[in-house]
Amino acid sequence: MTKEKTNTTDLETMRHSMAHIMASAIVSLWPEAKLGVGPAVADGFYYDIDLGDNKLSEDDFARIEKAMIKIINEKQPFTKQIKPIDEAIAWAKSSKQPYKEELLNDLKRAGTTVAKDLDKNELGTITDGETKTDEVSFYQNGDFVDLCRGPHVEHTGKVGAFKLMRVAGAYWRGKESNPQMQRLYGVAFATKEDLNKYLQRIEEAKKRDHRKLGKELDLFVISDLVGPGLPLFTPRGTVLRDELGNFSQELQAKYGYEKVMIPHITRSDLYKASGHYDKYPEKFTVTSEESTDEFLLKPMSCPHHAQIYVSRPRSYKDLPIRYMENTQVYRDEKSGELHGLSRVRMITQDDSHCFCSPEQVAQELTNIVEMVREMYTVLGMEFRAILSFRDDEDKYLGDIKTWEQAQSALEETAKAQKIDYEVVEGEAAFYGPKVDFMVKDALDREWQCATLQLDFLQPDRLNLEYTDNQGNKQRPVMIHKALLGSIERFLSVYIEHTAGKFPIWMAPEQIRIISVNQEYGTTSFAEGIVDQAKKLGLRIGFDNDSESVGKKIRKSEQDKVPYTLVIGPKEVKDGVVTPRIRGDMAVIAVHPELGIDEFLKTVAHEVKGRVTKSSL
Ligand SMILES: [Zn+2]
Ligand SMILES: [Zn+2]
Repeated sequence: MTKEKTNTTDLETMRHSMAHIMASAIVSLWPEAKLGVGPAVADGFYYDIDLGDNKLSEDDFARIEKAMIKIINEKQPFTKQIKPIDEAIAWAKSSKQPYKEELLNDLKRAGTTVAKDLDKNELGTITDGETKTDEVSFYQNGDFVDLCRGPHVEHTGKVGAFKLMRVAGAYWRGKESNPQMQRLYGVAFATKEDLNKYLQRIEEAKKRDHRKLGKELDLFVISDLVGPGLPLFTPRGTVLRDELGNFSQELQAKYGYEKVMIPHITRSDLYKASGHYDKYPEKFTVTSEESTDEFLLKPMSCPHHAQIYVSRPRSYKDLPIRYMENTQVYRDEKSGELHGLSRVRMITQDDSHCFCSPEQVAQELTNIVEMVREMYTVLGMEFRAILSFRDDEDKYLGDIKTWEQAQSALEETAKAQKIDYEVVEGEAAFYGPKVDFMVKDALDREWQCATLQLDFLQPDRLNLEYTDNQGNKQRPVMIHKALLGSIERFLSVYIEHTAGKFPIWMAPEQIRIISVNQEYGTTSFAEGIVDQAKKLGLRIGFDNDSESVGKKIRKSEQDKVPYTLVIGPKEVKDGVVTPRIRGDMAVIAVHPELGIDEFLKTVAHEVKGRVTKSSL
């Protein structure tokens, strides 16, 4: 037995050592426990355990944690032992650890325990033939011995802070015919402070979960009869979708994009021509009683827009031609992977396609980067760009000069716009460079939203042409882009980013009037404001319930309405209002009385300017 001398205290080593500590605690509490594997994972660790009929629950966590803390306080050294493989197999047998025995047999037979590298049917089989592994290492802390490659921290006292989080079922080695184990998860960090920060962030993320807020704020519903992954948007949710979609199109219109409209089903021949047919295994097929053609629910819009382009001869004078459309595409995602609005089967993209000459590419890319910048500045989100460029390999399609011009235009624009960016060489698709815009939310999580992709392939496949100034036929370059990406997915991000406190221009209800009493004078005065607001295009609600004013104000706060007006005898008499402003929007503490006209016009102005702070 040799004492392991290591100073490796990186998080992963700590987390993996924590898995040993948890396993030793489990074995001390349930000596019959049979152990699987216990790796470090993002934010923590887990161990797969077979406890027979004994089902772990959160009620057991405190007891396990206590046993773990005891082991941690004992500062048990992790010591390493090397055993010949057959001796190791004999150990696993005698200590009644069948899962370890299986892993050891795999090591002996195939030299690995990684299930994906092994033939599925051979997992755990025994061989008398050639031995691929001569000896294996074991690690011991206290009385607990575990098959492991290491490394570990020096002793159990050096593992930082942890918390057990949940227990879930997991098939042994991911194979459904195998026994179901219990996977016990914990999180672990170097310090108590880091752990607390992490736990607070999880709590905050739970509060902001878009599925929860979607229900509370009445934004969207999922109906069993309609099916999973097919959200239905309520009037309030539809306002959000429309405001985002309109914003995207308004921005694009400034740069010369024109709206087009395509159907939702299409003969699959289109995708065979474009080359997408085999690329989308998650297609929805539509059958026709009229024809024998195969129809698909469109999984993308690109080849359709290209069909509009080819519908008439194009000259260099017509270029660039820019089409935009907020439209749905459909992907038959696995039901287990569907999640609220972030993973759905109906995806609304703010898709666009620009067809231009190689000389025009640089300007078009610059325009797109400017649009992305304006959009996310207004949305109040930081972002960075990942520029995926070509390398020296010769697998790339298209003219090298066009590639180089496009790539340098992208980088120049990123610099000029002071965008945080990173160039990744060799990550471009073979048919063109692309840019992914990573957006950061209020919880510091990054999401890929906007994208742009140059495409030298589709124009070829779909035979897109224009006549240049010499009268020769040329291929245009196609640029795909989306500013929001999927509107559903973006909404899931934005609901959580804002915690449902949408900026005034997006808010489903921008102003709510609360009446102090239900007398005729109050009601008709309030109704007058409602009419006036509607004429200015504002979304306004009127709460004329007989509840107390305090209760109605709280309700308006819960609904996260930006401006709340309380209307009582004084307001009616003087024709003024004192707006209550939602906390995140307020700039000054005390708000003055305002004439109704002035108030409504100011709000309309704020909506138009898509501001995030109140000017009142
Ligand atoms: Zn280990
Ligand atoms: Zn496209």
